[in-house]
Formats: sequence, C-alpha cells, structure tokens
Amino acid sequence: MSSPARLAAAALALALPGAAFAQTPPAASAPAAPAEAFALAPLPYAYEALEPVIDAQTMRIHHGKHHQGYVNNLNAAVKATPALQGKSLEAILAEVQNLPPAVRNNGGGHYNHTLFWKLMAPPGTGGQPSAALEAQIRKDFGSMDAFKEAFQAAGAQRFGSGWAWLVWTGDRLAVTSTPNQDNPLMGDAPVKGAPVIANDVWEHAYYLKHQNNRGAYLSGWWAVLNWNEANRLFDAATRKGK
Ligand code: MN
Repeated sequence: MSSPARLAAAALALALPGAAFAQTPPAASAPAAPAEAFALAPLPYAYEALEPVIDAQTMRIHHGKHHQGYVNNLNAAVKATPALQGKSLEAILAEVQNLPPAVRNNGGGHYNHTLFWKLMAPPGTGGQPSAALEAQIRKDFGSMDAFKEAFQAAGAQRFGSGWAWLVWTGDRLAVTSTPNQDNPLMGDAPVKGAPVIANDVWEHAYYLKHQNNRGAYLSGWWAVLNWNEANRLFDAATRKGK
C-alpha cells in the first residue's frame, strides 16, 4: 500500500465511528438526565482556615468524604422515592418519621453539615453575639458562660454520635442534642425549633486531632464559632415567629 493510500485508509477508519455518531439524534432532542436533587456546596473557607482549632485533614475528609457521602446517598434515596421529588430539604425533614431511614440519616446529614460549615469561621473572624442574641441567652440561661457550659454538656453527654444545638423554640432559646444525623427540624424531634448554633460531635469531626477527648474539642470550638451567622439565624427565626 502506498503512503497516500495508507493515509486514506486510516482517515476512513477514523471517519467511520464519527459518521455513525453523526446519525444519532442531536443531544438537545434526547431526554436530559434528571439533575441531582441536592449538591455539595464548596466550603466557605480553605480546608486549613480553621487551624489550629480544626486541622486541614479533618476538614478535607469531613467535607469531601462524609458530607459528599450524605449528599450522594440522599440523592439516591430521593430518586427511589417519587413522592419526595421536587420537595425542599426542610419539607422532607418535617415528615421524616414517615420516610425510609436512608432519607432521615442522609437528609439530616446534608442539612446539618451545610449549617455547620457556615457556623464556623477562621479564628478571630466570627464576630460577637448580637445585642439581641446575647440578651436572649442571658434571659434563658442566666449568663453567656452558663449557656456555653450547657451547650458543651449537651455535646459531651451525647452517647455515641450526634449533634449539640442551640435552638429558638418560638418563645425561648433551648439547648438540646440529637443522635446520629437527627436535628430539631425533624417531625419527631423531642425539642423542635430553628437552629441558631450547631456543633457536630461525631468522632469524625475531631478524632484526628483530639482522639477520644471530645471535651477538648467542645471547649476549643468556641474559637471558630461564627457568631455573625448565629446572629443571622437568630434574627431570621425570631422575625418569623412574630
Ligand atoms: Mn460530620
């Protein structure tokens, strides 16, 4: 075979799959793959931004593996449950007691972590409690120190995995804790309310740095609490209730 003929044969071989492809319907007329219902947002800061309180490797695994896993599993559960399609996460959580456990665990996991990332900020940048939030904390707990003690105790006393919460119940602030990925929005939550502060007390949140010492994680965590976001959540929750 001469060189030009060889080139022509090669060109023909390359052209054939393309020709076959060109005969398939244009992508625009094919039914689009259904979009995933929920997505993982990027962290609002760098993985190392919370050091030395929370180390970069913990943040990388916590956001990229754990939270991503909840999102993936929630999307799979929603696909398998037609009645949930198109519903907001808040609406799903409100009726979670009637839904499969995968929806509860992964829906809660997605909601809680989305809240948690925003409720943290690099040390020294999270601001201070607003006058309104601080006054309400003093009214319901006696002092800021007493509130912090109650919040840390809620986290420390949660057996196994779960969350510590400060919630607005409609007429007061309350500290509560939930197991697993449960939260105060769930239809069967023992203390219902709008989250103002949330802390993840699963071992995956602190184990690389603190190992079994959850107390050290809880007492150090105030340095990365984003009071600006807590103020915003409190303001939105109390305005809604009026
Ligand atoms: Mn977590």
